[in-house]
Amino acid sequence: MSRLQQVTVLGATGSVGLSTLDVIARHPERYQVFALTGFSRLSELLALCVRHVPRYAVVPEAVAARGLQDDLRAAGLSTQVLVGEAGLCQVSADPEVDTVVAAIVGAAGLRPTLAAVDAGKKILLANKEALVMSGALFMQAVRKSGAVLLPLDSEHNAIFQCMPGDFARGLSQVGVRRILLTASGGPFRQTPLAELEHVSPDQACAHPNWSMGRKISVDSASMMNKGLELIEACWLFDARPDQVEVVIHPQSVIHSLVDYVDGSVLAQLGNPDMRTPIANALAWPERIDSGVAPLDLFAIARLDFEAPDEQRFPCLRLAREAAEAGNSAPAMLNAANEVAVAAFLERRIRFPEIASIIEDVLSREPVVAVNELSAVFEADTKARALTEQWLSRNAR
Ligand code: NDP
Ligand code: MG
Repeated sequence: MSRLQQVTVLGATGSVGLSTLDVIARHPERYQVFALTGFSRLSELLALCVRHVPRYAVVPEAVAARGLQDDLRAAGLSTQVLVGEAGLCQVSADPEVDTVVAAIVGAAGLRPTLAAVDAGKKILLANKEALVMSGALFMQAVRKSGAVLLPLDSEHNAIFQCMPGDFARGLSQVGVRRILLTASGGPFRQTPLAELEHVSPDQACAHPNWSMGRKISVDSASMMNKGLELIEACWLFDARPDQVEVVIHPQSVIHSLVDYVDGSVLAQLGNPDMRTPIANALAWPERIDSGVAPLDLFAIARLDFEAPDEQRFPCLRLAREAAEAGNSAPAMLNAANEVAVAAFLERRIRFPEIASIIEDVLSREPVVAVNELSAVFEADTKARALTEQWLSRNAR
């Protein structure tokens, strides 16, 4: 490798951000941190800057920026602090940057991720909400700029690894029959339905196999995460929703599979640790050590599979319907979900109400075409407003 790859980590203080920095720190001969961004955990961001010495750090507002800038100077660092969405877009598009890790959670990640796409970067995408919201426009922008889009989501990274190199020619052209998207089923796979009314945010966030941020943990408990991933898979691999089948696999050892017309089914296996897909995408097409322990098949002993129960997990049905409707529907679904999950985490609603709210919001608005980004944000804003109205009508 001729020179160090310059990496921007959007959402560095989060779960995926920290796993990324762990892998990067194992390979100082390959990677240099160019920029780190945080939102609320700013003392953690300071510590990460001291550890990785980036050129830039980005925080949401000016007062926090001044505080962090003073602390960085006191620590003897020349890291420059930038502010807000403009700062995020700047460190995504800077000509010196090679790779952008998109690991901000939710719709807030869309514009900075698109800035990296438009600048033709190598993008490691964890922020599935960005792609769900704006799929067609996002993929058009990737094709136009020649950006290299690599999935970090463990399932999509697995599918990517099981696809032939020329899958962009079309799934039928390369002999793929369907994608089998695995799901653990989350912490409530076997909880009696009546008890779901009373589950707490901490119970929802106690994922059996993965350690993740709170929003995606609730999404995993409701299986909205798998619904968002279904939409994500359709865009990444140019698949129709009926070509993606969700399979519950409670051990989370098989991270997804690709079924070919000749009957071959290729799977990617590994311990459930995000450092594997991160290392795979960072080094692609090479392979590097990720720090993940080798898989011990004797300790795992068995792999189970079952069909998802859409009565237990209505969010999965809602996401599939949004995938089929296309246009503004996925952006509305995503926005209603973000607001509903935040309300659940604040104990303003019960767990099953997440799905009820989303269904109610989606039924109130017709699906409209989204030919430009402003239409995506309009759909997002409308769904957030409708969800807030539901919350105030049904205030506890
Ligand atoms: P976390 O909540 O742990 O981290 C989110 C990151 O985004 C933090 O750095 C946070 O900053 C930052 N952030 C939050 N809100 C904003 C905002 N409004 N503007 C700018 N930055 C913001 O989430 P995860 O790391 O778990 O997930 C990140 C993304 O990756 C999500 O889209 C998720 O779906 C996806 N993903 C995560 C996986 C996982 O294993 N965790 C697996 C697959 C996908 P701060 O912490 O300082 O507030
Ligand atoms: Mg996933």
